[in-house]
Amino acid sequence: MKKVLSEHVPANSGWSGDLKKGQIIRIIAMSTVDFLVLDRDNLRERFDQARTKVYNGKIFLSTGDKLMSRDNQHFMTIVADTFEEGTHDLQKGMCSGRRFQLAKEEGRLQEYYHRDYRDDEIPDHGCWENLSGALAPYDIAPEDIPSPFNLFQHMIIDGKTGLMQHTNIRPDAPTNVDIRAERDLLAAFSACPDMPVGGKPVDVEIYEED
Ligand SMILES: [Zn+2]
Repeated sequence: MKKVLSEHVPANSGWSGDLKKGQIIRIIAMSTVDFLVLDRDNLRERFDQARTKVYNGKIFLSTGDKLMSRDNQHFMTIVADTFEEGTHDLQKGMCSGRRFQLAKEEGRLQEYYHRDYRDDEIPDHGCWENLSGALAPYDIAPEDIPSPFNLFQHMIIDGKTGLMQHTNIRPDAPTNVDIRAERDLLAAFSACPDMPVGGKPVDVEIYEED
């Protein structure tokens, strides 16, 4: 495999770029990364959490599983996943400045993020703003951005009550997920501010066959 791109993405910022069919995107991180893809030839055709869950028959994805589009196209296949401490999330949307403020207004920072925060510790923006900015050059309105595949965001979900518990479980060391494009795509992600653990920079690499 030949590396065709390598970029360092600062914490709490966004990235977007093209993926050709057959290329593999490698996301290397120690905190949550909100990742999504759109059909490069029809940007209205987007990654879909619900279709992805139904297609794979489960809510936790790993090696061999596929990312599906709204119209049930195979968008991507996970070809490697070295996150052994936990799982990736397919329930949640994007964090945002407004989301953090709402939690503060309602006195629920402790409940969601496991401790109280000083005002200057609460990020003024999150994945919503990061992905909006990353996709703005492609004329994608923020309200049209689908809920992402939240890499390295380990959740505990009670199978009986459906209760979702946010956790502090993240990779102990830089850990990668490799996902192969099954068609030409526009990829985007946000290096989440990841309130419970503190967001960290993300490295992205793209590989193609020699
Ligand atoms: Zn986030």
